[in-house]
Amino acid sequence: MSLSQLARSIAESPTLRLNEEARILREKGEPVINLGIGEPKNKAPINAILQGAARLTSGDVKYTPTDGLPSLKKAIIRYTEEAYDRLVAPENVIASDGAKQCLFNILFTLCNPQDEVVVLAPYWVSYPEIIRMCQAIPVIVTPEDGGFHPRFEEVVRAVGSATKAIILNSPNNPSGAVYSDDFVGRMVEFCETKGIYLILDDIYQKLVFDGLRPKPGTAFTRADSESTKLIIVNGVAKLYGMTGFRVGWTIAPRELVRVMTNVQAQTTSCVSPAMQVAAEGALVGVQNVVESLRLTIQNNRDVLMQELRTFNGVKLRKPEGTFYALVDFRAYSNNSVELSNFLLKKALVVTVPGKEFGMEGHLRLSFAGTVKELQEAVARMKWALDPTSANEIYLGDRKLVRDWM
Ligand code: PMP
Repeated sequence: MSLSQLARSIAESPTLRLNEEARILREKGEPVINLGIGEPKNKAPINAILQGAARLTSGDVKYTPTDGLPSLKKAIIRYTEEAYDRLVAPENVIASDGAKQCLFNILFTLCNPQDEVVVLAPYWVSYPEIIRMCQAIPVIVTPEDGGFHPRFEEVVRAVGSATKAIILNSPNNPSGAVYSDDFVGRMVEFCETKGIYLILDDIYQKLVFDGLRPKPGTAFTRADSESTKLIIVNGVAKLYGMTGFRVGWTIAPRELVRVMTNVQAQTTSCVSPAMQVAAEGALVGVQNVVESLRLTIQNNRDVLMQELRTFNGVKLRKPEGTFYALVDFRAYSNNSVELSNFLLKKALVVTVPGKEFGMEGHLRLSFAGTVKELQEAVARMKWALDPTSANEIYLGDRKLVRDWM
């Protein structure tokens, strides 16, 4: 079949593929535990549901302005004022179908073919693919010390005359690391001075633990909304656990937003009005849902850490935010794809290979699910890998005996 070379070169999303594999296994009655996907189990906030449903029942479900309903933008502006201490104009805001579309639109709008976009490892799987879809080149910076983000000097070394943008994602998917204020501050100052766009993927902004209060990127710049090089991406997916509503937004200088709006107008036209109104409902509704979600996830993190501490050989770094832990399994295998497949086959536990995030030898474990699932999943992984654990286990009502050690 004669298909575009570029399209054919785009990798499948490993997390969505693994999610699908888990779904198929579950449909076959297999007691699979999914530590692959990053979505909490909570129901959407009631105000989001009521507002979205009211819009649907009104029958008034038509195209909206491409960049978003004025009332949604107003709610986003209020959120931005609260979270970034920055008052932006409606012309600085565009709502899109999730943070993913925001990132695509931003990179499509910024990049000429062969422009370079710097990505810090470990990184979210979609960055390199989105960059390549926009005909630009991902430049991956891997931390030399094996840590969870490169040092400032290492990032600077990767910047050249073709660098158009740098993407920062903190709290970070897949590591759960929160970058230090010092590091973010230096990155902001560097990009503002050099005229390089700094894309702040802040989708996990409020999911931080243990009282950490990282400063937003805007705290480190004196540039105004029009001259800044900071581009902020955010959304309702992780903030409220509203992953399926597909609403995200970008805050950027108005010229960038204007061109992004043209790009969006020729692709998706606008976000569904029912979903926009639902997102607005979440943003203007009671905010204790954010805190209760955060507390649940923090407790899950603690349970996961506790269970993993008794797992011989695995090395842990405590996630400071998000719902992911990137765990070093090199004591068992240096090939994370093989290890992840082995765990799915033998223990019916879905994990995501670290290789997909630029961190071979690690597995990403999502702790967005339930405490019970986390405990059971770690017990199964121990059984499959750790020779000091008991060699019999129940998967659902099936008793299995380990016969490969
Ligand atoms: N950025 C990061 C770092 C993410 O982890 C995700 C979702 N997994 C997104 C963006 C996309 O979010 P959305 O669902 O709003 O498209």
